[in-house]
Amino acid sequence: MTQSANAPASPDQGDRPNLLDLSFHQLEDFVTRLGEPPFRARQVWQWLWQKGAASPLEMTNLSKEMRARLDESAVIRLPVISKQLQSSDGTIKLLLDLGEGVGIETVLIPEKTHYTQCLSSQAGCAMACTFCRTGQMGLTRNLTHGEILGQILVARTVLASLDTKLSLRNLVFMGMGEPLLNYNNLLQSLESLHHPQGLDFSSRRVTVSTVGIVPGILEFGRAGLGALAVSLHAPDQALREKLMPKAAKALPLDKLLEVLKKIPLKPRENITFEYVLLGGVNDSPQQARDLVRILSHVKGKVNLIAYNASPGLPYDAPSPEAVEAFQKILWDKGITVTLRKSKGRDIFAACGQLLAASADE
Ligand code: SAH
Repeated sequence: MTQSANAPASPDQGDRPNLLDLSFHQLEDFVTRLGEPPFRARQVWQWLWQKGAASPLEMTNLSKEMRARLDESAVIRLPVISKQLQSSDGTIKLLLDLGEGVGIETVLIPEKTHYTQCLSSQAGCAMACTFCRTGQMGLTRNLTHGEILGQILVARTVLASLDTKLSLRNLVFMGMGEPLLNYNNLLQSLESLHHPQGLDFSSRRVTVSTVGIVPGILEFGRAGLGALAVSLHAPDQALREKLMPKAAKALPLDKLLEVLKKIPLKPRENITFEYVLLGGVNDSPQQARDLVRILSHVKGKVNLIAYNASPGLPYDAPSPEAVEAFQKILWDKGITVTLRKSKGRDIFAACGQLLAASADE
């Protein structure tokens, strides 16, 4: 499926910027430079983020002159859907073309009452975690503000074309990339997400997942723009270094835990620790007890994820018995623990399986 109305977005906008790349304040400056009062930015913003305008010419509550001037001086470029796959469990994976051969993926996951969208923050990823398929491809580049949030606009058009009453409610930055290594664009995107005349997502509905990057993790934690999830995956530094060498060496486990203690949390707020269970590697009862110990001074809950096999990666899924025993040890020690049900495995849309524009899918 291809959206022909829009050319693929490119990070190089030439002298005509992509309106989707502007923050609200940048848009105010932009309309002011076109000779319009700054309040016009509010109308343009609504057209972009609420009404899904594909061209400034559609913005009918602006004067004809202003529409023409906007159209001459800017473009609206969305990511283009190059492939849409639907899993037997309803999960939808979209392969998006950003132009110049750059592809990313985003995943729409149906829950009981709503959809959750898994967003990418980078094309590829530099972290090279050994169990993650995206990590094997290396980093291509950071996504822009318009490319990060454009994934939501594209998802909305897909959901509108489906026979579903469920709307898009939750966002998780758990697609391709390490969000905190694209910090400025991430932060600007989160600010735009919460704009009441725009996408209007509450910060409670947005989660950013990270391997743990300083100083970004502390800055993000203090900004209060979304919930924090930390990919932990090992209860000790030595194993963490084997599983996620770059991340673990850059910020050793004890330092990571120290930083997390400094993050202000509201009364009912928690840090989520993600822990991918790899059969025979990090799923033993002793490792569960070690995990309890290291988390004893952090206000956190644990989200276990059974490893999703990916071709070419040297790990096995954990046995159901190991998963249950691991979960029970945490539970018995009073740690809130959930087991993430992986969705979309049959279309390689599950966690750690995202690898855009690959010929093998
Ligand atoms: N770079 C960030 C954002 C990506 S999140 C981070 O790592 O947190 C992707 C989530 O999927 C992470 O929790 C990651 O550890 C998990 N994951 C990666 N590969 C996986 C696999 N093969 N099976 C199950 N989960 C995996």
